[in-house]
Amino acid sequence: MKIYNTLTRTKEEFVPLTPGEVKMYVCGPTVYNYIHIGNARPMLVFDTVRRYFEYKGYQVNFVSNFTDVDDKIIKKAIEEGVDADTVSQRYIAECRKDMAAMNVKEATTHPQATQEICGMLEMIQTLIDKGHAYVAKDGTVYFRTSSFAQYGKLSHKNLDELQSGFRELKVTGEEDKEDPSDFVLWKPKKEGEPFWESPWCQGRPGWHIECSVMAKKYLGEEIDIHAGGEDLIFPHHENEIAQSEAANGKTFARYWMHNGFLNIDNKKMSKSLGNFFTVREISEKYDLQVLRFFMLSAHYRSPLNFSAELMEASKNGLERILTAMDRLRELDGKVKGDALLEREQADDGVRQELVAKFEAAMDDDFNTADAISAIFELVKLSNSTAGEESSKAYVDGLKDTIARLCDVLGILTERKEEVLDDEIEAMIAERQQARKEKNFARADEIRQKLLDMGIVLEDTREGVKWKRA
Ligand code: AMP
Ligand code: ZN
Repeated sequence: MKIYNTLTRTKEEFVPLTPGEVKMYVCGPTVYNYIHIGNARPMLVFDTVRRYFEYKGYQVNFVSNFTDVDDKIIKKAIEEGVDADTVSQRYIAECRKDMAAMNVKEATTHPQATQEICGMLEMIQTLIDKGHAYVAKDGTVYFRTSSFAQYGKLSHKNLDELQSGFRELKVTGEEDKEDPSDFVLWKPKKEGEPFWESPWCQGRPGWHIECSVMAKKYLGEEIDIHAGGEDLIFPHHENEIAQSEAANGKTFARYWMHNGFLNIDNKKMSKSLGNFFTVREISEKYDLQVLRFFMLSAHYRSPLNFSAELMEASKNGLERILTAMDRLRELDGKVKGDALLEREQADDGVRQELVAKFEAAMDDDFNTADAISAIFELVKLSNSTAGEESSKAYVDGLKDTIARLCDVLGILTERKEEVLDDEIEAMIAERQQARKEKNFARADEIRQKLLDMGIVLEDTREGVKWKRA
């Protein structure tokens, strides 16, 4: 299995630290709003990477964090007049809903920065003790980049160039830095901000330290894969390497994987540019399986332009797979013989070749685009060779193979049951009746049942309105 490693800029054979196991850390979102579909790209890509390792028989320990202390969260909390925790907990819950709706598997551990402050204080102290960090007059703790000879190895930047580049961009309030390329590990609180006690000042962590600490706590000092979007290469991942390797004295991650940007009109989709769609918005127009299929239709390292045409093409592609699976399931009850018929043996050979093609694509740095074309070829094989005269073994072979390969991509091959509008209206009428009879327990029960079906009710002056969540 080959993985493109940002560190060496080459595709390398994957060799796990422990045979049969994969220790993997993916940087998660900062939770101050609903996630947009650019944030969804690393979630979908690295969930698929995880699924493929599992398909190959590896046990994957998958850790992904929520950054729940950050300037943007604090700003939003101030705007709303609530505390930062209220904002972050709300959007963690919403993010989890979106992830589940995109069929992203639950991480083995999903830590939150604010729950890991103790570990951060410890690692910062170790860095100070080893001479890799220093405390400025106001209590800010900085990482001393010049103390880590390999600084710049991931982003392939040279420290001298970095230092002169940074010199141009002096940040006010950071005059106490020994060097402009040094970065913050801990900073003093400002009025109205959440803070924690520390030996240096009451304050909060810089952004980078949380990932070094959580990766160490949940996966160990050395991990197999560290991943995220390519905007994280510098400074975030470069700084994580400096912190972890300086503190632990070991190579941090062996393979660094980065997904390309999801663009819109060839510009990175981002909250700051305002050119984004949230996953929630997309879910109002499309089944999120379509979004997933769209994201995987390109190689994860390539830029991907979001467009209605490509989404429509993905919708049609997905429909082709679902229709073929519907047909195979229908054949289930009709076919008779158990053993493969003679001419089926040759077709079964083709099926196995297509599985090998799928695996070869995925083994080559997770080429999901080619993997999907192997699935389409299986669909074609199924449509042209399976019928009522087929044997059960042949139909089962095709059905199980398509389902198994789609599952690697997180694509469901059974249609979700469509709840019909009439059915919903009938339940709402029953709830209204129960309320009239003051049977509130029954009314609540119906509301919950609808919620489980993904239907949200809203009691308005004009009556009850409903929408699909
Ligand atoms: P953030 O919440 O901005 O820290 O981003 C969370 C994750 O989403 C990181 O791995 C980012 O690299 C990734 N990300 C953000 N915007 C995009 C985008 N437009 N395309 C691909 N990945 C993105
Ligand atoms: Zn991180």
